[in-house]
Amino acid sequence: MTQNTDYLREKYREMDDRGETWPLNQLETATQARPTVEGREVIMLASNNYLDLANDPRLQEAAIDAIERFGVGAGSDWSIAGYTILQDELHETIASFKGTEAGLSYQTGFAVNAGLLPQLLEAGDVYVSDELNHGSIIDGIRLSPADSLVYDHSDMADLEDTLRTAREEYERIIVVTDGVFSMDGDVAKLDEIQTLAEEYDAMTYVDDCHGEGVLGEGHGITAEFGLEDDVDFQMGSFSKACGGFGGMLAGDQHVIDFAYNTSRTWLLSAGYPPAIAAANKRALEIVDDEPSRVRELWEKRDYFASELESIGFDTGNSETPIVPAMVGESTAAQKLAERLFEEGVFALAIVYPMVARGKARIRNQINVGLTDEDLNEALRVYEDVGRELDLV
Ligand SMILES: *Cc1c(COP(=O)(O)O)cnc(C)c1O
Repeated sequence: MTQNTDYLREKYREMDDRGETWPLNQLETATQARPTVEGREVIMLASNNYLDLANDPRLQEAAIDAIERFGVGAGSDWSIAGYTILQDELHETIASFKGTEAGLSYQTGFAVNAGLLPQLLEAGDVYVSDELNHGSIIDGIRLSPADSLVYDHSDMADLEDTLRTAREEYERIIVVTDGVFSMDGDVAKLDEIQTLAEEYDAMTYVDDCHGEGVLGEGHGITAEFGLEDDVDFQMGSFSKACGGFGGMLAGDQHVIDFAYNTSRTWLLSAGYPPAIAAANKRALEIVDDEPSRVRELWEKRDYFASELESIGFDTGNSETPIVPAMVGESTAAQKLAERLFEEGVFALAIVYPMVARGKARIRNQINVGLTDEDLNEALRVYEDVGRELDLV
């Protein structure tokens, strides 16, 4: 018998039967509060575009100017054949936006975690990681020769126990946490984490991908808790609330110098186009200049979450513009998403392996561009479809 790929067909079929495959949808407009998807104008509740900046004319203008000056492709890895002044300007803007000594951008947020985390520790050291941390953190930790210990989600007693053990057995320790947990929309107890880390002589690494543009008047979780000078490694993404693309890292100058000289993702993968750097910088300026945008996002989030609950949906641990509607079984969540879509609401079913089996849900993400009428329409559809499927 020759080896072939038939087993992949079989595996795919099994995943599909369990409702664990991804339907891919075609966008026929820019991503925005009411895009056209698969021929239908929908209320978008599935995108990370919280501040509705992805199609903002000011970002477009910054990108178009940059294309006219510098063309499209970056030409190489940033480390090899150089980058434009736009990249340097972005790095300075990151530092001032995050209130740190220095800033750096990566090709993606994933590339920060997968590239930098493995370089930070060696054999004999340990990562202490929240059980619900993002997959890119898990992968980054796996690539390191250091060990890892996982603590129960946001359980500070378990974190302390884990740190106590780690302090006895290991040399260096880094506590790694998402700032906003991407599936549940709850916020890390960063003040307590920082205090415990200091008590047990550990460093801290925070992934703020869903916090930038959202928490701390838009400046992220370290601003929210006043810990800009305390957290050792602050990473995030331009691809979410900022409406741009790419990863960011903020910290002390020596941390940044170490990061770009060792992260294999930064060193061995091409830079993103110069236009992206220009758009990202413009996005940070807008977030900084328009705190009302962030406040409005929160007002809409609070309204949607409380109304969804009064319809009878459980929003789990949501504390941010990520507002899940908990369902349970993957196939039930897929069915709900399908019916919502047919009724003009685009929201994502999140199923295993993104969340544990039996914890499938619809993840709603609020966009500041949604009007009150849009939100009410989405809630009306939730109520109708929820009744139809016996979920409320
Ligand atoms: C989205 C996300 C990432 C990856 O960021 P990209 O810029 O999309 O690669 C990493 N961590 C968390 C918590 C995220 O939500």
